[in-house]
Amino acid sequence: MSPLLLAASLLAAAPARAADARAADWRRAGLSDAMKEALRGERLRLEDDGRVRDAGTNLALTRDQLFEMISRIKFGTQRLALERLDLILSRGSLGPAGRAAAEALKPNLPEDVARSLDEYASLGKLRRTTAAGMSRIADYFDGARSFPGRVRPSWANAPRSYSDESGSALGRRLRGAVVKRLAADPVGRRVLARLAGADGKPALPPIVVEDASDPAQYDYRRRVLIVDGAAALASVTSGVPPKDRAALATMISAPPALTAYLNVHPEAVASLIASNDALLVHELMHAWQDRRDPVMREMARGGLPLALIVDYEVEAWTTKNLYIASRLKNSPGVPVDINELRDYRRMLEDPARWAVELRRRYAAAAPNAMDLDDLQEMQRRRIAFIRERTARAANVRAMTRARRTLEASAAAISTRLAALAAEAGRAAKSAEGPLAEHYLALALDAPRRVDCSALIETAERYAGRSGDAELLGKVRSHKGCPR
Ligand SMILES: [Zn+2]
Repeated sequence: MSPLLLAASLLAAAPARAADARAADWRRAGLSDAMKEALRGERLRLEDDGRVRDAGTNLALTRDQLFEMISRIKFGTQRLALERLDLILSRGSLGPAGRAAAEALKPNLPEDVARSLDEYASLGKLRRTTAAGMSRIADYFDGARSFPGRVRPSWANAPRSYSDESGSALGRRLRGAVVKRLAADPVGRRVLARLAGADGKPALPPIVVEDASDPAQYDYRRRVLIVDGAAALASVTSGVPPKDRAALATMISAPPALTAYLNVHPEAVASLIASNDALLVHELMHAWQDRRDPVMREMARGGLPLALIVDYEVEAWTTKNLYIASRLKNSPGVPVDINELRDYRRMLEDPARWAVELRRRYAAAAPNAMDLDDLQEMQRRRIAFIRERTARAANVRAMTRARRTLEASAAAISTRLAALAAEAGRAAKSAEGPLAEHYLALALDAPRRVDCSALIETAERYAGRSGDAELLGKVRSHKGCPR
């Protein structure tokens, strides 16, 4: 799950206008960078000629459809920021922490609410402006304000996971490669078992190659795993001799050509999966959470606020690190992505502090980041607010159902996280030896002597901490570095 991008200066909603079914041109819409990102997040492609195309159906949006999409993102973002502020204000006086949290929401709040915050208005006044802002936006979502060319979200038009036979064949190959890679490791096998189908075999979500903001990303709205096209291209070209790279990159830069290439180069598929295995474990955890708990389904349906659930992230990050611990223990020489390894080492230092910091990072990066308890409370308040406005009962019924589904998930998550934290603590206790072996293997493989020396030093540190005298002796015997 990538954070919902909250735009700092979203396009102001224009008053109702005559219907406009001409093709949209995003270049003339004066979009902020944040809005462009948000549109991409809705699976829309902003093309060089100005067209805005649905990545799933390949259809170009009309001006009305683009306008509607922008309004939906803008109001959705403001509603979420207002609801978060409302939750903060409901907890009594604005202490320093509450004030800081409210300040962080400011870029996404309506102007009058942001101004009240700037003026250090009384709690009563802040609550009133917040409620008024929520009412204005509820008008939009209740359909009280009519917009021409209402359009369903882009992903709702794209139920198909694969656009053609070639993409579907590649999806099968990618899934096969993931199963093969993860099945070689005990923690990997555990991840696969959770995604087992009725026949007991792993039933991974469809895997598509498309533009994504990370090398891999689980899209809970389409329930597919996306492998980023640019990351796939980089992985493929890094596997050929340097002199051939540029020519190959030009030849297969278009998505159909990349798909065709991967379909006839199983070794490139295997190496793409191998170099991203830790990240894939993380994203597959999101796929499991989506099957296990109804929370993401409800968010996709509109029954719950679009939150980035930090409990789920902690679960995915911890499992990813347990996978790395297991990989290193069973085959210390195996390459591990450098960023993933850095995070793993940070977790080993102090698993509890690492989790607190992870939560803090998410809270700072995404205003919609929250735990399941906060989401429950926000939903409770949203229902009460809508009831007061005597909106359609059907809305309230759907939201109440969504809230009930949250209860069980929220009740179970703390037990799950406690078990994982205990496992991480145990892994940390026996992690030093394998890490020393890993850094020793990297050192002996390093092309430059200076890199080798630095890696040996790290290996020596871990070997020392492991208390394994034999291992320490082995590391020290390589201190000279051969090259
Ligand atoms: Zn995640």
